[in-house]
Amino acid sequence: MKNGEKRIDLTGRKLIAMRDVQDALAAGATSIVTAANCVVTPSAHDFLRQHGIELVENATLPAPSPVAQANSSPTPASDSSGHVSINRRLFSTPEAEAIKKEICAVGRKLWMRQFVDGNGGNISYRIGPNEVLCTPTLVSKFDLTPEDLCLVDLEGNQIAGSKPRTSELLLHLEVYKVVPEAKAVLHCHPPHATAYAITGRVPPNLVIPEFEVFVGKVAISPYETPGTKAFAETVLPYVKQHNTVLLSNHGIVCWADTVTHAEWYAEVLETYCWTLMLAAQLGVPISRISEEQGSDLLAIKKKLGLPDIRFDTSRMKECQLSDLEVPSSIALEPTPCDGSSGNGNGSDADLEALVKSVTDAVMDAVRTN
Ligand SMILES: [Zn+2]
Repeated sequence: MKNGEKRIDLTGRKLIAMRDVQDALAAGATSIVTAANCVVTPSAHDFLRQHGIELVENATLPAPSPVAQANSSPTPASDSSGHVSINRRLFSTPEAEAIKKEICAVGRKLWMRQFVDGNGGNISYRIGPNEVLCTPTLVSKFDLTPEDLCLVDLEGNQIAGSKPRTSELLLHLEVYKVVPEAKAVLHCHPPHATAYAITGRVPPNLVIPEFEVFVGKVAISPYETPGTKAFAETVLPYVKQHNTVLLSNHGIVCWADTVTHAEWYAEVLETYCWTLMLAAQLGVPISRISEEQGSDLLAIKKKLGLPDIRFDTSRMKECQLSDLEVPSSIALEPTPCDGSSGNGNGSDADLEALVKSVTDAVMDAVRTN
């Protein structure tokens, strides 16, 4: 090892949380060594990256020296149920407690904004590589407390928490499995966005900058019975390139790096849909942001690291077509970018609605000329 480098041995640990890496930094570590099967929480990972501390996985190193042990908190007992005890410890780390509070605050926001009804809606956060904190079933999001929350694995098995986990968990887990950068998933039923979801239509783009940057192209997935694996899998074709998906005849799902940000996207989509509906009542066409100015917004979005199917230049044309064809419509037929199968039925009705929206657009154009 070179001069000035300091490696701290944490191979005796089965879980590395924020406090452990903060202690390592305070002790002057430039690298830490962990056991190969050790769980490192996402925030601990981020902290190591931010402070340039190298993470070295090594199962073969000897047990930690007494000095290294003295610098760290007690290791959980290892026995035949060792894996369970690690997970249970993860459930009550300071990081988990902070996220539980954030989930409760976001749940209350959802209820206050009328995005959830009865015990509807659910929120989760991936706290470990295979561990997810989530809301319980049959609890109003207004009434949530940190004690109500559950810990599950990526197969949906409940590891900790006294209340049964949400029945919509499978939807969240499918997102985590295919989108590595998704740390939080949120599902709710905001009325104006859900109005789109029950008509099988998507809102147009290039109307309001904030929507372009934070959501952009919103996809629509086909209907399936909620709570089933088939329902959970309906979002798979879309979630890599869309952080927000309309769920046909149901509601919406959003993913983000934090629970708070996932709720922001729900707010941005709901307000956008609502504003479009209000504008439609004014009886004059909606002005559009130009394609060139739209490119500026996409550049901002790319810088923020947010996904958008329009970054896929090979699909640029098909992503823009429908918007250009019906410039005044506020409810568009989904293109292959948004879920071309729509709700999977009623092609005659779809054609009729498309003809009507094109006719309305032409009539609007005639009236304003
Ligand atoms: Zn639902």
